[in-house]
Amino acid sequence: MILILGESTDLQSDEYRQLMEQLAALPNIKSRVHHIQGTERSVTEIYLIGDTKALQVEDMQALPCVEQAIRVSQEYRILGRHRDDSRPSHFEYQGLRFGQDTLHVFAGLCAVDSREHVEQMMRALQDNGQTCARMGAYKPRTSPYSFQGHGKSCLPWVFQLAGKYDIKVIAMEVTHESHISEIRESLEATGKPTGVMLQIGTRNTQNFELLKAVGRQTEFPVLIKRGFGITLDESLNAAEYLASEGNSKVIFALRGMKTNLGDPHRNFVDFAQVPVVKRLTRMPVCVDPSHSVGTRSASPEGIMDIFHATAQAVIAGANMVLVDFHPDPPKALVDGPQALRLEELPYLLEDVAISRKAYLERAEATGKFLARQ
Ligand code: PEP
Ligand code: MN
Repeated sequence: MILILGESTDLQSDEYRQLMEQLAALPNIKSRVHHIQGTERSVTEIYLIGDTKALQVEDMQALPCVEQAIRVSQEYRILGRHRDDSRPSHFEYQGLRFGQDTLHVFAGLCAVDSREHVEQMMRALQDNGQTCARMGAYKPRTSPYSFQGHGKSCLPWVFQLAGKYDIKVIAMEVTHESHISEIRESLEATGKPTGVMLQIGTRNTQNFELLKAVGRQTEFPVLIKRGFGITLDESLNAAEYLASEGNSKVIFALRGMKTNLGDPHRNFVDFAQVPVVKRLTRMPVCVDPSHSVGTRSASPEGIMDIFHATAQAVIAGANMVLVDFHPDPPKALVDGPQALRLEELPYLLEDVAISRKAYLERAEATGKFLARQ
């Protein structure tokens, strides 16, 4: 059960002390207090864990300081959607809103290679009105002999270039707890010219110690990718690890599943599940058409499969698109064959806008239909 406290609750007050005493007296129930700092308001929530079946929602709602009590199912207690749950499905970061109702494109390099390529990418993003990017500094590679990313040494100039071109948020994968402090220190040393969304890659979706470490900090929001060889439920539970440690600024990414059925694509594209994740949880949903499709192949009219997959996700209500670009794909050190060229950025953005418009029209048509029922 989750208790949401009134906005004006003073944690030093007698009322709050009484509440905590009454909760401590409940048999076989532990409580965990979470403070959620939003831009407009900060909220205190108390998670009751243990034998909560016997508790009545009305009794809990009558306790001092409690505004609302929500009975949650076992699944995804914090990030899930539950009955009578009015908790938000969005968060703010760097002045941008990330929610189940918004859409952001994070185009950029799979792996940071040279300063020149990063600058060309950032410039193209700014020229096309973009304020978000993807940049991989720590690369989890299948072979130990492949390029592993420049790591912390590239962070200062990547962040400075982001600031120069007004990029507000960079999605950047971390593969070890120490990368969080390296990113924080580098941002501080360069005067915080940009923001970072920490990315958990598909190979680390069930690296529970990494999830706990990333979840313990609340400075950076998190983009967690679906594990490519586990169930959706297991991946959503992985996201819940982040929230259970205190960080519920989480975006969930679909990026395709591994199959051995002679796929035409690098992974089996799972974007039909965008609405499923939005229904089960309050997380904004990202799709990664590059790592799922993995090729620049096109259909007979010339539209690339990466564009088709993106459009299918956006028309189904996706909230974020993470997509690989490179100024010179044959020279890319990682994933060149799936990279889009910089000249293709305005064309992708136009295709995304067409799909988003269609999604909004579909939602409006459905709203009208439901109102008539
Ligand atoms: C990436 O986005 O750079 C990446 C490695 O993706 P994934 O974890 O989905 O393979
Ligand atoms: Mn890649």
